[in-house]
Order: sequence, then C-alpha cells, then structure tokens
Amino acid sequence: MSDLRDLYQEVVLDHSKAPRNFHAIENASGDAQGFNPLCGDQVHVWVALEGDTVKDVSFTGNGCAISKASASMMTQAVKGRSKAETEALFTAFHRLVTGAGDDPELLGKLAVFAGVSEFPVRVKCASLAWHTLKAALEGAKAPVSTE
Ligand code: ZN
Repeated sequence: MSDLRDLYQEVVLDHSKAPRNFHAIENASGDAQGFNPLCGDQVHVWVALEGDTVKDVSFTGNGCAISKASASMMTQAVKGRSKAETEALFTAFHRLVTGAGDDPELLGKLAVFAGVSEFPVRVKCASLAWHTLKAALEGAKAPVSTE
C-alpha cells in the first residue's frame, strides 16, 4: 500500500504540474463546466465524438492538484473508448475513490487514486472532472449529417 501511496503522490504531482490534454476543443460535440465549491475547483470538459466513440477529450480549469491530476488522467483514460465504456470506467473510479471497491484491470493507471478514499473531503476533487465529462456526453449535440 505504501508503494501505491508513493506512486499516487508522484502521479498527482506530475499531472497537476503538466496536465495532459489541457486545452479547449474547437467544434466539440459537447462540453460542460463543473464546480466544486467545497474546494474551489473549476473544470471545463470538452468531448469530440465520432459515432459512439470518444475521439478526443480535453479540459481546462483551475483547482487543487488532485482535481487537475484527476482530470488530466481521465482524458488519457477515456480517449478512444465508447460512451458505455466511459460510463463503466466512471462507475469503477467512483467506487475506488469512495472506498467501495476496486477493479484494477478496468482502472489501469487510475488505480493510484485509491489513496483518495482515505480523505473523504478529496473525493469531490477527484470525481469533479468525471461528473463534468458525463454532463458533456449527455449534452452532446448530435453529429451533423448531410444525409
Ligand atoms: Zn480540490
């Protein structure tokens, strides 16, 4: 467990300092903003869908290291996945950070966020980007078709 904790700190530091996919997407299929008043985290998530697949996903925002690192890793984790897979991953991630269980095979690198379950106040920081992604996907405009 202490190895995982070291890895967690390393990963959070890395991703919060140099967030991946940290930009807006032009002509996104959907986007949404999320806010965690408890901590002051703000996030804006963009998704570009191709059919049912998350072709691209990105975010911008301001917040604590955990919220930023979580958003950054989320974009890496869901890119290329279907909406259903993304939903399943969110469910698994939420179970992980709330200490309800884990699914290392599904979660992959996201498994380092197990450390968050020890700090209930941080659960909202870690899951903010995921809730926002869900909203962006649900509000996604239908792709324009010339047919
Ligand atoms: Zn936070």
